[in-house]
Amino acid sequence: MSDFDILDEEVRSCTLCTLSAKRTNAVPGDGDRKANVMFIGEGPGYNEDQQGIPFVGRAGQLLNEMLASIDLQRQDIYITNMLKCRPPNNRDPLPAEITACGPYLERQITMISPKVIVTLGRYSTANFFPNEPISKLRGKPMPWNDITVLPMYHPAAALRNGKLKDALQRDFQQIPELLDSENADRSSPLQNTLPTTTEERQLDMFAPPPTDKEPTPNSDEEPSTTESGPKQMSFL
Ligand code: SF4
Repeated sequence: MSDFDILDEEVRSCTLCTLSAKRTNAVPGDGDRKANVMFIGEGPGYNEDQQGIPFVGRAGQLLNEMLASIDLQRQDIYITNMLKCRPPNNRDPLPAEITACGPYLERQITMISPKVIVTLGRYSTANFFPNEPISKLRGKPMPWNDITVLPMYHPAAALRNGKLKDALQRDFQQIPELLDSENADRSSPLQNTLPTTTEERQLDMFAPPPTDKEPTPNSDEEPSTTESGPKQMSFL
């Protein structure tokens, strides 16, 4: 059994936080374990919980369309979430849950060692850059421990807002160039704010996300019912 298989089994049997109590399936991740690009979302929704696979609902379909627009398929990437189990009613992750689940994500990043990490939504982005809102960071490739991190809006948010969908489409177009470049942009003015040691990274990864007032509150208003349950996570 590979280290990756061991990790997946650990996740599927994990009881480190209370989300284990009501899950149908834990959702470790899916895709190429040697992928050059890794996508990180927030947490499983209804469909993901049912199937044990990330991004299989409408947001996943949009993600697949975006990937196709740059000649990539799901099997070309690795995709996972910060939380491996679905929060009740798709509520936002709690700090204790992020802290409990974070080491699994760190191990996945270490084993995959991607060139590019795409963070989808504000919580995933705040894992890496806790001091800036997603509206300011999206579409800006930034260095993080020899990896280029490209924050984007979450596809679920893009499904509800055409402007965010346009932004997501534009941001996706950067991925091929980043993958081709061995010298991805390392000159971000935010570079000096990045954690450098494992301890600093741990502390920063689990800091609460910044308040993000963009776009307007109505743009990320949650639908009362969705395919993923009664309430979607607020991904912005
Ligand atoms: S969310 Fe993560 S830490 Fe919590 S039970 Fe699931 S796998 Fe374990």
